[in-house]
Parts: sequence; structure tokens; C-alpha cells
Amino acid sequence: MMNTANSPGSPPAAGAAGAAGTAGASSAAGGAAGAPSAVGASSASGAAGASPTVGAAGRPDQTQHRQLHDGRMLEADFDMSPFTIAWEITRACAYACVHCRADAQHVRDPGELSTAEAKGLIDRIKDFGSPILIFTGGDPMMRPDLFELIEYATKKGLRCSLTPTATKLPTKEKLQKAMDAGIKRIALSLDAPTAAVHDDFRKVPGSWDRTMDILRTALSIGLSAQINTTVSKHNLDILPDMVKFVKEVGAVQWSVFFLVPTGRAHAEAMISAEEHERVFNWLYDLSLKGDFDIKATAAPMYRRVAIERKRAEKGSIEANFQGAGFQYADGLNRPVKGVNDGRGFLFVSHTGDIMPSGFFPLAAGNVKKDDIVEIYRNSKLFRELRDPGLLKGRCGVCDYKVVCGGQRGRAWAMTGDYLETDPACVYVPPRRDDVSPNRDDRSSRRDDVSPHRGDAPSAGSAP
Ligand code: SF4
Repeated sequence: MMNTANSPGSPPAAGAAGAAGTAGASSAAGGAAGAPSAVGASSASGAAGASPTVGAAGRPDQTQHRQLHDGRMLEADFDMSPFTIAWEITRACAYACVHCRADAQHVRDPGELSTAEAKGLIDRIKDFGSPILIFTGGDPMMRPDLFELIEYATKKGLRCSLTPTATKLPTKEKLQKAMDAGIKRIALSLDAPTAAVHDDFRKVPGSWDRTMDILRTALSIGLSAQINTTVSKHNLDILPDMVKFVKEVGAVQWSVFFLVPTGRAHAEAMISAEEHERVFNWLYDLSLKGDFDIKATAAPMYRRVAIERKRAEKGSIEANFQGAGFQYADGLNRPVKGVNDGRGFLFVSHTGDIMPSGFFPLAAGNVKKDDIVEIYRNSKLFRELRDPGLLKGRCGVCDYKVVCGGQRGRAWAMTGDYLETDPACVYVPPRRDDVSPNRDDRSSRRDDVSPHRGDAPSAGSAP
């Protein structure tokens, strides 16, 4: 069990967190004045808040007349453009981490995009505006044209980050070269405050020390660093001890990933829904200290917890959560509203499959034959994922379904239906009488989905 001492740096006791986490949750929340674009909106038309929404009837006229290169405008409209794109440029990796979503391999796949295909992809991504582009893997350092691609993307105006594996490849010289090519930030995985636990995760002795070295080196050359930690049963108890390391290496962000059982990650390693809730509340407490930015990844229900906590603190329902909206010196800002699989987020696999996220291995197309812009905006899969009115189960009747919506990749992995309830959420919406009858349209179920499944994606990225 996780440390339940109710002290700074420790998760709150389960009971306390639970109480806080549900305080203020009522049907009234749905009508909160000043609520995010739309807490409580029950129809698809209200889904994306202020932004016009692509619904079943098609794209509204006004969006068709927008200038495609107005980055600020496009960032605000997730129907038109993802805020973040994670690109698995290779699946090759020297490691074999136990929870790798990629099931990464030691050698490069001959089906990877060629340099010319990769540059063509970057050209099309530019038509989204200026999204954040994450070069991920596998280990992106195992691709020889990495720096050429970073430079090409940077010159196109994209804001680039890199997620190297903690091998000997990211030397000081290579990190400097990546920075010179345009990388604004690196992100490294650190799953435990001790080498023993982390190295056991990674199955590579010395990987914890190497990770810390790379993080310190990045700090020494002025390169922003982010720490990614995957929460599972293995490290739940020792999460609080991570905080000092995040501070020590000067990380600008701690991205706390909540396990999605895909790739090599199994559902047995997941913490329970109640434990998720406790960690969310602990993270919220930690975020109030402001030592570094905290991002709950693959856990949009953290937004619900944050709203509930703010409402409890303010004693009113006039609290909202529009994403952090942080501005960073490295330019990799946080969006002003919540991102979810396929809604502000897009993943491209090493072979070019276009997916809603790295934890959602269902391809809506492939960049070798399909237009990524068209797929993101108009494919059935992506449009459905942006329409909260289609959600089922508890998520379908939830007063937070617009601001949260549940992690769709987890619903897909655990229920076989990407529109079903996210099993990692404890929340029971207050008004079950609004439940829509069981939908006849079961096309979101695994058995009925027609798009080809992509190869299991590799390490990296989720909203
Ligand atoms: S029930 Fe679904 S939409 Fe509601 S808070 Fe939980 S995961 Fe989010």
C-alpha cells in the first residue's frame, strides 16, 4: 500500500482523499457558471467548448475559412488541429522495460518511414499550425537521421521535444546537437527513487544512474528536462520519494503516467480505481506547492478531481479546469483545455500508422497512403473520440464527460469498446436516470471495428 501519512510529500490517507475527491460533486456541477467550456454539456455540440465542433453533420462553415497556419487559432480548436503529436520515429530500443507500450525491439523495423517520407510527414504536420512534435520511440537516438529531422521540423516552425532512452547514446555532445537542431526539451523515464526498483522495471542494471546523469547533463547545458513516471503496483508506495529527484534535476514538469494495459504493460500491474483517486488527490496537493508543473498523463479524470477540490476549497461550484495553460520558457506550453486521445493529441507509429495516442493501438490510416490532416479531422475514429455525446456507461452520463471523457485507450484495452467507461475512474455520476438506453451502434467495440489495428505502438506518448 502507498504511504498514507498525511504529511507534506505523502499521499493523503485514503479516506481523506476520497472525501475531498468527491466533495461538491453533484448534478449542480454540470451547470457551473464559468465552467469549462462545458462541464455538464450533454450534447456533442457543446463538446469542445468555445470551439465549433465537428459533429455528425460535418464541419461548420467558419472553420473552413480559417487560415491553416494560424497556430494560436488552431491550438484552440482540437477539431482542426492536435495540440501535441507524438511520433515514434523508430521502435528500436536497447531496453525491454516491463511496461513498455511499444513492445520495443532491439533492431530497426525495415518498414519505418524513410527520411523522405518522414520529411513529407513533417510538411503535412505543418498544416496543423505549430503543434508540439515529440520525437519518441523505441529510442529515437537509434535513428541516424534524427538530427536532420529535428532540424527540418524546427525550420518548419514546429516545437520539438525528444524522449531518448537512458543508454550511453545521449552524450553531452549529442544532447547539445539535439538542442542546436531545435529540441526544446527532453523527457526521460524515472520510475522509482531508487536504482534497484527502477532498474528492475527497465531490466537494465545501471539505467537509474544513467537517467540521472542525462538529466543533470541536460540541466548543465540549459536544456529543459521532464521526468516521466509510470504509476503501477510496483512503485505506488514510493511515489512520494520521487519528489526530491524531480526537484534535484530541475525538471520543469513531472509527467505522471497512469498505466494503460497495452504493449508489454498488463492490467495486473495497474493500481485500483480507488488508488488512482488517492494519487490524483495527492498530486493535486503537491501541485499547490508549485515546485514544478505536474501533469497527469493518460488520466483525464484528474481534471474532475481538480475541479472537485477547487470547488471544495472555494465553497462554491464556480471552479473549473481548463488545462494548466502554463507558459514555459522553452515554448512547450500546456494547452488551455484538456487533451485526450484523438482530441488534441495524435500519435504516428514507426511504420506510419495514425492513431489517437500511443496507448490506443487502433489506426485510422497510414501516412504512407493517407493524409494525416484529413484523418485527424474527418476519420470516423477521431471524430467519434471528440464527441462526448457518444460516450457510454458511466462516462456517457457523467457531468464531467466534456472536460474529462475518460481515457479512451484504457477503455479500449479493458472493455473492448473505446467509448465505454474508463475502468480506472471511481466516479459515479449523480443522475443515473439520464442514462441513454444501450446504444444500438456498437461500432466502437473491438469486434466490430473495421479500421486495421496498428502494430502495438512503442514507448512514449499519451495525452
Ligand atoms: S466517469 Fe468517465 S467522464 Fe466521468 S470522471 Fe470518470 S472517467 Fe471522467
